[in-house]
Amino acid sequence: MANNENIDWSHLPFGYIKTDYNVRCTFKDGKWGEIEVSDSEQISLHIAATCLHYGQAIFEGMKAFRGRDGKIRIFRPDENAQRIQRSARGVMMEPIPAEKFLEMVEKVVRLNERFVPPYESGSSLYIRPVEVGITPRVGVRPANEYTLIIFVTPVGPYFKDGFKPTKVAVYREYDRAAPCGTGRWKVGGNYAGGLAATERAHAAGYSAVLFLDPKEKKYIDECGPANFFAIKDNTYITPKSNSILPSVTNKSLQQIAKDMGLAVECRPMLLEELADVEEAAECGTAAVAAPISEVADMDNGIVYKIAKDGKPGPVTTQLYHHLLAIQKGDEPDKHGWVKVLD
Ligand SMILES: *Cc1c(COP(=O)(O)O)cnc(C)c1O
Repeated sequence: MANNENIDWSHLPFGYIKTDYNVRCTFKDGKWGEIEVSDSEQISLHIAATCLHYGQAIFEGMKAFRGRDGKIRIFRPDENAQRIQRSARGVMMEPIPAEKFLEMVEKVVRLNERFVPPYESGSSLYIRPVEVGITPRVGVRPANEYTLIIFVTPVGPYFKDGFKPTKVAVYREYDRAAPCGTGRWKVGGNYAGGLAATERAHAAGYSAVLFLDPKEKKYIDECGPANFFAIKDNTYITPKSNSILPSVTNKSLQQIAKDMGLAVECRPMLLEELADVEEAAECGTAAVAAPISEVADMDNGIVYKIAKDGKPGPVTTQLYHHLLAIQKGDEPDKHGWVKVLD
């Protein structure tokens, strides 16, 4: 059994640390079986499993936090339950019933309770469900057996060196998804598709790639693993597109923006609009909101300077603090987003 006594809770990376248990459930003979608890980090797969050859692999990501009151809070797991069902249907996999998914999430968190970082650390427990097709197939066809596994791992605060804006790059020669493809689902293959562009951006000193819409290359889609939003004239603007993954964080930030009195626009957003936005950020479970200082259009040398003083904008900062405070239980959960484990 892993030891948690020497974990430095305040300085965890966003990486994998072994915990005590994971939970598993298999769909076979037309039905989902019992939830199994495992202490193994391995799975045994047939060499012809559809997940290995034909990309039948989907995943989710969410977090659990320990509150000041010591209670564990899971943020909007029902949204992830809905989304993994949409992803499953998108690539002809078996959708897991939401109640079963939620039972598994709660179970794996409780089983690994000693790995939920203390409140003061700023860290959290990352929850990673993954579902794969396991039927051996050589011809291209969906599997008829699926395994869903949920593991957890404690992760550190995303902003180790403080909440600071970073630069992102635009390249027209790469897409993460096709116009009517799998971009709107959390399918493993989408991330493989984005790796080359992301590695190139990192090598050039950028933290991420901002992908354009794959059809016209005019509108902003999203960053590799995070949605995008901008702030202008007291309005929260976020791109609408068929190739974006609908982010739970983005959905939550839109509500918080409304609560703060901002207007919210979800619409196609031209890259050139960045010339006069006041703030821009990426958003997703890992970071909540990561402010962007500049967007470099690498194909024609245009640089959109957004955080001119190098500091995060005031609206992004407020959105970030509000959402984190709701997740940790420091602010009232007036929209009923938080699942508190008693
Ligand atoms: C997971 C993911 C996000 C963020 O979604 P959250 O639900 O906020 O974590 C955004 N974009 C892509 C492509 C993703 O895979």
